[in-house]
Amino acid sequence: MQARLAQPCLLCGARSRAGLLCPACAADLPRLPAERCPVCAMPTPGGAVCGACLKRAPAYDRTEAVFRYAFPADVLVQRLKYGGQTVLAGYLAGLMAPSARPDLIVAMPLHPHRLRERGYNQAALLAGHLARRLALPFAATACRRLRDTPPQVDLPVKARRRNLRGAFDCTMDLAGRHVALVDDVMTSGASLDELARVVKRAGAAEVSAWVVARTVRD
Ligand SMILES: [Zn+2]
Ligand SMILES: [Zn+2]
Repeated sequence: MQARLAQPCLLCGARSRAGLLCPACAADLPRLPAERCPVCAMPTPGGAVCGACLKRAPAYDRTEAVFRYAFPADVLVQRLKYGGQTVLAGYLAGLMAPSARPDLIVAMPLHPHRLRERGYNQAALLAGHLARRLALPFAATACRRLRDTPPQVDLPVKARRRNLRGAFDCTMDLAGRHVALVDDVMTSGASLDELARVVKRAGAAEVSAWVVARTVRD
C-alpha cells in the first residue's frame, strides 16, 4: 500500500496524512450516542422507541445515522451539499456502517431544477459510494422528485408533511424488497417518511433510512 501524502485538513488546515480531516478534527465529529430510538435515531434513554415514533410511526422501519447534525459535522455536510466539495461524499459514506442488509439502495431524489443548479445530488453520491462498498445495487432512477418543494426549515412538522404530499413517485416494482433510503441529513424526518411511504406503496416490505447526520432536539 502506498503511503498517503500529507494534506491540509478541510476544517482547520493542519497538515496530516490522516486523509481529508486531521485526527483532531475527526475526533471532534459529534457521534450520536449508542442509545437511540431504533426507528428514527433520536437519542433516548436505554435506546427505547421515542415518544414521537410511538405516537405516530413513520413509514420507514429503522434509521441508521452516524452524527448529530452539529459542528463540525454540519460544516462537512453543507460543504458537500452547497460547496461543491464532492470528495466529502466518499469520506462521509466511509464513516457510515449500517448493520441492515437491504436488497437495494435508493437516494433521496433531487428535483431536476435543483440538480441542474447544483450539478449533482449529494444523496446520490453518498448512495453510490455505499452501494459500491457494500456490493448492493443502487437503483438510481427508481424514484423521482416531482415537485420542487420550498425549503422546509421554517415549517412546523405537520406543515412539512403537507408540503411533501405528491413530492415523489417511484416507478420500480419493489414488491417484497428491503430498500435503504440514503440522505445526507435527517431533520424532522418528513422527507424520508414521505419517500418511504411511496416506496412501500411500490411494494417494499421493509425500509431503512441511512443518513450521515440527524438533528437532535434539546
Ligand atoms: Zn483539522
Ligand atoms: Zn423515534
